[in-house]
Amino acid sequence: MRFLLSETEKKQFPLVSVIRKAVQFLAFILINYTIFETIFQIDLSVITDLHIPYPFIQTPRSFLFNGNGGAGLMEHILHSIGSGVDNLPFLLIGILMLLSLVLGRFTCGWLCPVGFFQDILSVFQKESRRKKMSIQADAALKQVKKWILGILLVIMIFLGFMATFNTVQYVSWKDSIGTFLRRPMAGFSLSEFLFYTLPRMIGMGVDQLSFTAMFENGWSVFLFIFYLVIIAVSVFYPRFYCRTMCIYGAAASYVSKFSMLKFSRNPVKCVGRRDCGICEDVCPKQIRILDEPFEGFTGEGECNLCGKCSENCPYGAIELKFDFE
Ligand code: SF4
Ligand code: SF4
Repeated sequence: MRFLLSETEKKQFPLVSVIRKAVQFLAFILINYTIFETIFQIDLSVITDLHIPYPFIQTPRSFLFNGNGGAGLMEHILHSIGSGVDNLPFLLIGILMLLSLVLGRFTCGWLCPVGFFQDILSVFQKESRRKKMSIQADAALKQVKKWILGILLVIMIFLGFMATFNTVQYVSWKDSIGTFLRRPMAGFSLSEFLFYTLPRMIGMGVDQLSFTAMFENGWSVFLFIFYLVIIAVSVFYPRFYCRTMCIYGAAASYVSKFSMLKFSRNPVKCVGRRDCGICEDVCPKQIRILDEPFEGFTGEGECNLCGKCSENCPYGAIELKFDFE
């Protein structure tokens, strides 16, 4: 039988969640500051040159920014592999690996605008009505994400070669996918869809006062429907896109498994799944926390350090730790 929380324990102020939402909101504004230029007709180009080489905190004018967040950076790196080792952005790769190794998926949980967008979507659904996938389905979809990464890896390296050695064919192929996708693989990025493709579609529809004018070609119709479905599903399944499709997340999970920053569970304080299990119930990434090692867990590199498990544990059994070993 499950442990029942007392009223006082239930009403603890969710301080970590509130701070996280504030940080996510500020990061969203920082990353998308050009929105405010458009709305308030102001010029913020003073921060044009600000460039931090991390997928979620580049400014929209930085040379790496393509509106497609982590997937865009992955594409940039993989494309470079195909173009020759000399072109590899070693600094960028090094920083990404180092950040994942030290902070794990902190950036996914606290800074990524697409993660924030999905968190906001799930607010529309009561905690009790949020859905969980079966363990098997969850595990299978995480594998699918890694397969998508593997297939795109091969395609992007190939495209890198093509771009370098067979430019004419590459350009004609790229032209055939239209102007909506500025980079060939951008269709795999919810960020690209939300912050680039969709605003353009809406702009074209509004300009011509026509719904059909939003769609340049079959690709744009497909993308529109596909991402609407993903967004709708995310209302019921928290962080659905992160869990099943984000190729940056797939790549980062390999390194984040060994992250120094992680949560641990105190075996003396924890009463286990049969009598409690609240941490697993509230985890948006559906991590099987109680099957993970006590001394530190990352959920196979999927934990984004949101802190919900720790915040909701009635026994204070889950704590953040920094592990140098
Ligand atoms: S860690 Fe906390 S929330 Fe999770 S089962 Fe143990 S006591 Fe319950
Ligand atoms: S394990 Fe805890 S910190 Fe990690 S994603 Fe789940 S609820 Fe958040």
